[in-house]
Amino acid sequence: MQTTATIQHKEVQEFLSKAPLSFSVGGKWVPSSNGKTFPTFDPGTGEILAEVYEATAQDVEKAVAAAAHAFTHSGWARLAPNERAVFLHRLADLVEGQRDVVAEIESLDVGKPLAQAQGDVQNFCQTIRYYADLSVHVQYRTALAVPHHEARVVHQPRGVCAFIFPWNFPFLLVGWGIAPALAAGNTVVIKPAEETPLSTLYLMNLVHQAGIPDGVVNVVTGTGEGAGAALTRDPRLARMSFTGSPEVGRLVARECGQNLVPVKLELGGKGAAVVFEDADVDATANALVSAITLNTGQVCCTASRWVVQESIYDQLVSSAAARMKNLQIGYGHDAGTQMGPVVSPKQRDRVLGYIKKAQQEGAEAVLEGGPLKVSGKEKGFYVKPAILAGDAGNVACREEIFGPVPYLLKFKNEDEAIQLVNRSSYGLANSVWSADLQRANRVAESMIAGNSWVNAHNVFVHGIPYGGVNLSGMGGGVLGPNTFFDYLRDLSVVRPLA
Ligand code: NAD
Repeated sequence: MQTTATIQHKEVQEFLSKAPLSFSVGGKWVPSSNGKTFPTFDPGTGEILAEVYEATAQDVEKAVAAAAHAFTHSGWARLAPNERAVFLHRLADLVEGQRDVVAEIESLDVGKPLAQAQGDVQNFCQTIRYYADLSVHVQYRTALAVPHHEARVVHQPRGVCAFIFPWNFPFLLVGWGIAPALAAGNTVVIKPAEETPLSTLYLMNLVHQAGIPDGVVNVVTGTGEGAGAALTRDPRLARMSFTGSPEVGRLVARECGQNLVPVKLELGGKGAAVVFEDADVDATANALVSAITLNTGQVCCTASRWVVQESIYDQLVSSAAARMKNLQIGYGHDAGTQMGPVVSPKQRDRVLGYIKKAQQEGAEAVLEGGPLKVSGKEKGFYVKPAILAGDAGNVACREEIFGPVPYLLKFKNEDEAIQLVNRSSYGLANSVWSADLQRANRVAESMIAGNSWVNAHNVFVHGIPYGGVNLSGMGGGVLGPNTFFDYLRDLSVVRPLA
């Protein structure tokens, strides 16, 4: 460990002191077969947190083999749902018991404020519990009423399910991904993002402690082109779930297509918030600033285009700009920090690059934004939030920036607002803000996306599906009851009656 950050929990010290960190295959901690490692950084200090073993294609093959073996031999797939649920609730209990330890690891690795990381860990536990409970209550046999046949559909676990995750919500997303797959009786191989592998590795300690059979959950750490691509090419997969950018999503889908492995893609977004003149302007400005600065704007569904009715435009802009200027930006562990750094120098360059390019294309910088030096943490990857405004063709209005940079657009009437929202090639999540609920619901239903929120942004409730259309994803999304059935295959059993 090379960070100078003050670590609060001895468990985190111990965990990091074991670096280079091994990954977990078949219930064992293993180094990469060629001994190669890669560093993961503390974005708040710019220093290396730990070296992590970089899985080779051969290591990935072994992980898939371990998961395949566990599927057929460990008994996990054949356990009654309530028996599997006991293991999963035990895992949730263990994670809850170590919430602050996992949150510290997450905050160090991603740069997010500690309180947000604690919320992510809690969300992970809720997801595990939601699908564990759901699995006990669903029907695994559906009788079919057809003439002259006795027939039913039986829902069976599929086999090895692979998961590739991004770096913005590493721990929370692991929960969203693997909870339904495990509750349905599958085994899994996880490839976390190379920027943020630590919380997923730490989770494996708790998976082992929970007594989940060896090989049911496997983690391989490494690069996208290396371990990630090797995973997508494995013909033994029963299913692939990818969360990340549309560019990589295409590659993943293409590779899986070669083997006809079904793919679920949760991709990027360019979410809009439509604010009508009868909305509470200050409260809406506050909510939108919170949304665009949450996780330093590195949120797929954030409100990145603010589409504002012209009569309240100036008032909303000045209210939002004042709040953004007062935001406390700093180290994730420091009390009072509202916004941490972005995850990497590459991400910082991306955000700053978009701010510059947008202005070159004619956008107005209502709030300048730019790089930021935090005292005592000068090498951290900090940025100041910006607010841009201009026409809808601007690059910053079309493309996902993934930073604290909203783009403002004005509208005159409802039709124009809907048209501005729907001209995006993404389709993840938008919101409508209005005191007139009839209008708000009408506009919400006109949006081409997976999710429309009314008088709120970033609403995640277990039991409500969350997913995207067009460039934002395909395959049914996550968090809903149907997600559970994505991890079961259907088998029709039929007997003709004489
Ligand atoms: P990314 O697409 O660059 O990487 C995501 C993962 O894919 C990483 O683990 C990476 O190692 C892996 N990868 C890279 N190349 C690969 C390849 N050739 N084959 C297989 N795997 C490969 O995305 P990112 O920068 O980590 O995350 C940001 C993106 O994720 C944004 O677009 C964001 O909107 C999106 N996202 C979407 C959701 C959602 O639920 N829809 C949630 C979080 C993030």
